[in-house]
Amino acid sequence: MDNKISLIYSNEYLKHDTGAGHPESPARLKSIISYLKSNDLINSLEITEPESAPLEWVKENHSEKYIDLFKSYCDKSMTFLLTSDNPICRESYRIALLAVGGILKAVDNVMENKFSKAFCLLRPPGHHALKNEAMGFCFFNNVAIAAKYLVKKYGLERILVVDWDVHHGNGTQDAFYEDNKVFFFSIHQHPLYPGSGMEWETGKGKGKGFTMNAPVPPGSSDDLYIEIFTEKLFTRAIDYNPQFILISSGFDAHKYDPLAQIQLSEAVYKTLTDIVIKMADKCCGGKIVSTLEGGYNLKYLPLCAAEHLKSLLGFK
Ligand SMILES: [Zn+2]
Repeated sequence: MDNKISLIYSNEYLKHDTGAGHPESPARLKSIISYLKSNDLINSLEITEPESAPLEWVKENHSEKYIDLFKSYCDKSMTFLLTSDNPICRESYRIALLAVGGILKAVDNVMENKFSKAFCLLRPPGHHALKNEAMGFCFFNNVAIAAKYLVKKYGLERILVVDWDVHHGNGTQDAFYEDNKVFFFSIHQHPLYPGSGMEWETGKGKGKGFTMNAPVPPGSSDDLYIEIFTEKLFTRAIDYNPQFILISSGFDAHKYDPLAQIQLSEAVYKTLTDIVIKMADKCCGGKIVSTLEGGYNLKYLPLCAAEHLKSLLGFK
């Protein structure tokens, strides 16, 4: 296996136009790509162009009615999908399918042992998207679809999703709340959008105990995150013994992010990734696919992403 890691990226991802001044902008990906090009990191990444996801996989997590509605709104060049929280353009449906296709490609690259790790530099993000509803700049739940793909295509039975975006990954939690094949962990600011993700939300039915939420107050810093990762998540994850780890990697818990008040440094994203890699090395031969969710400070987003990548690349 190569020392490189797989980077899924396409300039097509810039074509999802959210309108002037919107924080979830194409400039987010541009800032990361240009930073990676400005140093050696880009040379350690094997860039793969994504293909559009087959609809059958999107339908694993979203209703046909919702998928058709999204498509028809884009075909009509509407500027929002029902609410102002979900800005779209004519291309958005096509690009959202390409985002799902990106994470599925990353999963294939890792499952086929071409790489042990992959990072998906894509948009629109996905972790708020529900079965029948777009939410919080998200349309199709990339991570949830990837987890279902791992179960159905590859027959896996234990997948861990680690969501450190500053917002609770309500869409992903919802998709697996009654499911023990996917363990969902989310650390997020509370109170904050979307408002869910309390500690007592731990799953239901056969999914009871397979959701773990760590809401943290505004102002929380690196130490608390590291403590929760090492003392709560690590132990539970080793006990669960995942066959694959997916990361919903938002970088909006950074101290200068405009949408939240957590105080993380950029460097802690390397530390947190190192902890997740330790779990992956113990349980699943290092298999990790990470995908971009939020992160809105265009100066610090690339620095956070670079720290994450350095860890995935095995830098000490
Ligand atoms: Zn977020």
